[in-house]
Amino acid sequence: MSGFLDPKFQTLEAYTPGEQPRDMQYIKLNTNESPYPPAPRVVQALTREQGQLLRLYPDPTGQALKERLARLYGVAAENVFLGNGSDEILNFAFLAYGAKGVVFPDISYGFYQVYADLYGLERESIPLKEDFSLDCRDYCGKGKLVVIANPNAPTGMAVSPEQIRQILLSNPDAVVLIDEAYVDFGGETCLPLIREYPNLLVVRTFSKSRCLAGGRLGYAFAQPELIRDLEKLKYSTNPYNINRLTLALGQATVDADEYYRDICEKIVESRRWTAGQLEALGFQVLPSQANFLFARSQAVDGEALYQQLKKRGILVRHFTAPRICQYNRITIGTQAQMEAFLDAVKEILTGGAL
Ligand code: PMP
Repeated sequence: MSGFLDPKFQTLEAYTPGEQPRDMQYIKLNTNESPYPPAPRVVQALTREQGQLLRLYPDPTGQALKERLARLYGVAAENVFLGNGSDEILNFAFLAYGAKGVVFPDISYGFYQVYADLYGLERESIPLKEDFSLDCRDYCGKGKLVVIANPNAPTGMAVSPEQIRQILLSNPDAVVLIDEAYVDFGGETCLPLIREYPNLLVVRTFSKSRCLAGGRLGYAFAQPELIRDLEKLKYSTNPYNINRLTLALGQATVDADEYYRDICEKIVESRRWTAGQLEALGFQVLPSQANFLFARSQAVDGEALYQQLKKRGILVRHFTAPRICQYNRITIGTQAQMEAFLDAVKEILTGGAL
């Protein structure tokens, strides 16, 4: 750290992305990416012409993509915001709506805490229940920015839109941000609620179900007033936040929606199969609605399992927070990858490698 850094950032603990080691070819089950490629027409959208157009700035409004998303989801383009990954949208939302403080579950997406600290927001973390379920009453009447990932990460567990409605109703003077990064894998969206609640912001991403983590594209839905707030911050930060190629890829992705629905079905099927296999091996597996499982075994320490898998070329995500350090989060890959993962787990459990 240099002596020039503003003192208020000196103690900031930055977000640590999942590891991306290059020392060998791993089966990557650690960052919830899709194991499947984008639809063929998305790759074909990377044309020579697009390459040559790179000399020009992209459309700062992203209007064509907004219109496609609006059509797909039955809203208007003015209900849509686009971000450089959903992380950027979260960033703007914390900046825009966190002044009265922010509240989120103790076990959730690690970036929420970082954004709160980045902007010096007062933050309250509410423990999930013993079984990692979320009690919506804990978030009622808070009067500050409420942030809930639904389904949650890293647990994969979801709450119903009716529960979210209670939170919206009881916090009329604060924004409720529902992070639906994983909703396409079985959760129930609360998107229809944006019509009724001017304080609802629904944030989504192309990184998981749309196989486009490398393109960095997120989107959000809300009433136009909230969208205009976010646009104001975007135009005060980086008006061309989505690059020209990603805009083109995003449009082709929306046009190929059926392809992605098939992929989600495959992942849900592999999730069901993998959960069953892990349970048969004595693992406790949380009921996931996402493209990952969160699981622990009484027979093997969480960190040891992570290390042993890594030695065998399989990466999963291990967290060190005391409440979850016995668990690992396992992204659902292809069926073949999940079979390789389970073979490795069996070998570790029987090999006394601990
Ligand atoms: N929200 C949640 C809950 C996530 O797990 C992630 C992925 N790390 C994100 C948001 C951010 O995804 P992206 O910036 O790739 O859209």
